[in-house]
Amino acid sequence: MTDEQTRVALVTGGSRGIGRATVKRLAQEGFDVAFCYRSDETAALELEKEVLEYGRRVLSRRVDVRDTDAVRALVAETESELGPVDAAVTSAGITRDNPLVLMKDEEWHQVMDVNLDGVYGLCRSVVFSMMKRKRGAIVNISSVAGVYGNATQTNYSASKAGIIGFSRALAKEVGRYGIRSNVVAPGFIDTDMTSVLKDQVRDKALESVPLGRLGRADEVADLVAYLVSDRAAYVTGAVIQIDGGIAL
Ligand code: NAD
Repeated sequence: MTDEQTRVALVTGGSRGIGRATVKRLAQEGFDVAFCYRSDETAALELEKEVLEYGRRVLSRRVDVRDTDAVRALVAETESELGPVDAAVTSAGITRDNPLVLMKDEEWHQVMDVNLDGVYGLCRSVVFSMMKRKRGAIVNISSVAGVYGNATQTNYSASKAGIIGFSRALAKEVGRYGIRSNVVAPGFIDTDMTSVLKDQVRDKALESVPLGRLGRADEVADLVAYLVSDRAAYVTGAVIQIDGGIAL
């Protein structure tokens, strides 16, 4: 990617948390940005305004990432409104925690459908166009749970480990087409996803973070921005943890 060209990014789960911070960061870096969200139209419209204030073009749509046809349509609309997608970031994700012995089939399938099928859907929809143009950067948001596993999160950990396998296989498939595929694996980040945890659970988790605090969404967004930039031109198939040292 060269700086003279307008670059276009597409982010899933853009209205909140890490996705929202990523949309803003990429706009600051000069990307025109499309993003999808599940339900909060007000938050999406506010974010659209912020992107416009950075002087970039923006497109947001309510799209459920489980619906591969809708994701394909979003990519087509993005390409016709903003141009071909140079950077694809999958941040849409959910948790449905339960010990395996109590896990309901729907908790298993919901997590797989959003976290793993959602990644497949976006990557499948952008890859051919990227191959034809011989450029593109994909960043899929996994989790340290996908690397080490987390008790009560067999569904979530499996989906996040799946993202790692998927992204590395893709890196091998499309590297020769100038496309890079990387994974960001956050630890404990201060977003709506973690704000629902009880204080006791948060305090316990914090005890195992050497840096002694939660991470911020904008810190994860900085890493994503690096990975989709030319500064990371020789980085592919990487799984980069951003976790305050939680796994040490
Ligand atoms: P969040 O709950 O604040 O945001 C999740 C986003 O995903 C929301 O915008 C939501 O609308 C979207 N989403 C959920 N289901 C969707 C669907 N079916 N279709 C479209 N969009 C959907 O969470 P977050 O903390 O910002 O998490 C972002 C990503 O980072 C997730 O993949 C999550 O698993 C991962 N992650 C978060 C943490 C953390 O501590 N917060 C840690 C590791 C990994």
